[in-house]
Amino acid sequence: MTKEKTEEREYPLNQIYFYLTEGCNLRCRHCWIQPKYQAGDKTYPSLPLELFRSIIKQAKPLGLSAVKLTGGEPLLHPNINEILDVIRAEELGVTMETNGVLCTLELAEKIKATCENPFVSVSVDGSEAETHEWVRGVEGCFEAALNGVRNLVKAGFKPQIIMSVMKRNRDQMEPVVRLAESLGAGSVKFNLIQPTARGKKMHETGETLSVAELVKIGQWAENELSAVTDLRIIYSHPMVFKPLGKMFSNNGDGCGTCGIFGILGVLGNSSYALCGIGETVPELVFGHAAKDNLKDVWENTPILNEIREGLPKRLGGICGDCLMKNVCLGYCIAQNYYRSKDLWAPFWFCEDAEAAGLFPETRIVSAVGESKFG
Ligand code: SF4
Ligand code: SF4
Repeated sequence: MTKEKTEEREYPLNQIYFYLTEGCNLRCRHCWIQPKYQAGDKTYPSLPLELFRSIIKQAKPLGLSAVKLTGGEPLLHPNINEILDVIRAEELGVTMETNGVLCTLELAEKIKATCENPFVSVSVDGSEAETHEWVRGVEGCFEAALNGVRNLVKAGFKPQIIMSVMKRNRDQMEPVVRLAESLGAGSVKFNLIQPTARGKKMHETGETLSVAELVKIGQWAENELSAVTDLRIIYSHPMVFKPLGKMFSNNGDGCGTCGIFGILGVLGNSSYALCGIGETVPELVFGHAAKDNLKDVWENTPILNEIREGLPKRLGGICGDCLMKNVCLGYCIAQNYYRSKDLWAPFWFCEDAEAAGLFPETRIVSAVGESKFG
């Protein structure tokens, strides 16, 4: 009976992104969540284990099949072992984004045993300590992150390395790929610095690359760098800039979107939110796990229903005129809202590319007419 109801539901809650901790053991200069720096005896709140359990119980009848554990730093959570036990007992899939620093072999093995194909990514922002630690703000975190990767590999993972590309490390993209190869990683993902929270400051102080530079680097990464390594290379620019062959691949690098119609965020302070953007945008927080019923939040939050009704047809600017909007969905509606307080505002990267004459004309509806993608 419950199963039938789940299948009929128009918007199953497929995945919850748990931002488990309000603190983080690093203080990265590009962080879009900007958690509080946690070191020494200092601790900051994290999602209580009992609430985690309760959220999972409520979410399963709504369609939940997987969770993402992120932060802050998920491995900083005082009950991370028990959280992994709950995921295993509930037979959920798991994705984890970690800075790697606290990833012991024991924890890596525990994550590996959680489900059939757990996926872990570790952030490495330079091929040597000086650059990585300049980005991540804590001495010694480079070797600690590499040890975390080594432990994951020993436990049987082929972890993904994530590098956020900026002026300071742009020349280390290939060296980071070589480092990832030597460590036994499975893929390298290059992220853009989003102009959100601390990343916004980097944009304002000129530490980020221009859209023209990012477009050029993206072409090089997707065409040349990916040809000289066996690792999968993912460059996270919007899909109109990708080669046709990668645009619709279903292995996670075809489209920048997050599956917005099927996800919900839970913050370290136990609030429900669109995603981690709730840390900095109170309008995108929808209630509290200790007092609000998840089914009610998922089905009756006005802004969630507005997104379901309006995306992609209400997208404005270049996103509204883009051939890919039905698939890309404006790339990141949380980022778009953060920047403009308008859910339907276009994504900054494509807007800047259009202004610079770099947006591919063959992918603009008003230039070429509607297509099967429009
Ligand atoms: S980017 Fe990740 S590791 Fe760095 S401060 Fe933010 S949450 Fe912590
Ligand atoms: S213009 Fe908007 S919809 Fe099109 S690729 Fe860029 S972000 Fe996506």
